[in-house]
Amino acid sequence: MDFLSIVVPCFNEEESIGIFFKEIEKVLAGYDYEIIFINDGSSDNTLKNIKDIANENSSVKYISFSRNFGKESAIYAGLKNASGDLICVMDADLQHPPNLLPEMLETISNGDYDVVAARRISRKGEPKFKSFFSHQYYKIFNRISEMNLVEGATDYRVMTRQVVNSVLELNEFNRFSKGLFQWVGFDTKWIAYENVERVAGETTWSFWGLLKYSIEGIVAFTTAPLSISTLLGSIFSIVAFIYMIFIITKNLLYSDPVQGFATIMCAILLLGGIQLLSIGVLGKYLEKTYLETKNRPIFIVKESNIDDM
Ligand code: UDP
Ligand code: MG
Repeated sequence: MDFLSIVVPCFNEEESIGIFFKEIEKVLAGYDYEIIFINDGSSDNTLKNIKDIANENSSVKYISFSRNFGKESAIYAGLKNASGDLICVMDADLQHPPNLLPEMLETISNGDYDVVAARRISRKGEPKFKSFFSHQYYKIFNRISEMNLVEGATDYRVMTRQVVNSVLELNEFNRFSKGLFQWVGFDTKWIAYENVERVAGETTWSFWGLLKYSIEGIVAFTTAPLSISTLLGSIFSIVAFIYMIFIITKNLLYSDPVQGFATIMCAILLLGGIQLLSIGVLGKYLEKTYLETKNRPIFIVKESNIDDM
């Protein structure tokens, strides 16, 4: 039987950890597995609760970061230290239903797929505007990038060792997991499930946080916004040229007195806006390049019970 590693990123999940472990233990009775909790710089008792569980269960490992590095970094650390033949990534708040796991494991064990991932088909209990923006985002992302993100795709997935090794080869600093998982390819089977609310605690995602994250995804996976500036520039140059000929001709024929304040203001404001926007877009890519060239570590470990880290 394949050895299974379950990677669980945790940030301020003191209440969820215990419930999560109980559930997963029930579901995985009879399996050969390890659970790797990654404490992503929690400021509550998350680490203590994880350690308590680890002390009583030799199958429980933990990695604790020196500060909050973000879920993406936590997943990377978990994947890097997982020793399983099959590796599963899962949230600690039980929003990724553990009872899907046996079905996922069975599907992947049949050997037809390299990845079995969960897809949320409802957004029950979520604000309407959030679902709306999310839907539009997927549409835009898929249109301007060469990838095809599956709507409702979550990080809840079981992968073979081969897939995980490929994901680990993408050791970039800006980690947009949804994109990375998709980018490596392989045959993926999607399993649909209804949205579940958190068992305890609160989500750390604010509207602005999500907006920032979505821009990161676009910058990480497509350079289309840069081409849009070029396109806009070309269109405006052509229009400006035609308009210039029109003005010159008009002036020669009728020798107009000074006029056209409105025209000039509109042109200046519009072009100024577009120029600033383009510089902003350019800056975003430069910022990401700058961060990548620093080559900083994706995470820093403060303590762990894994021996050969
Ligand atoms: N998480 C993390 N680091 C962070 C934020 C979140 O490891 O900086 C973990 C969190 O503990 C949970 C998972 O990532 O296990 C998903 O987070 P959350 O439930 O807040 O996101 P949502 O389910 O609302 O997308
Ligand atoms: Mg959650």
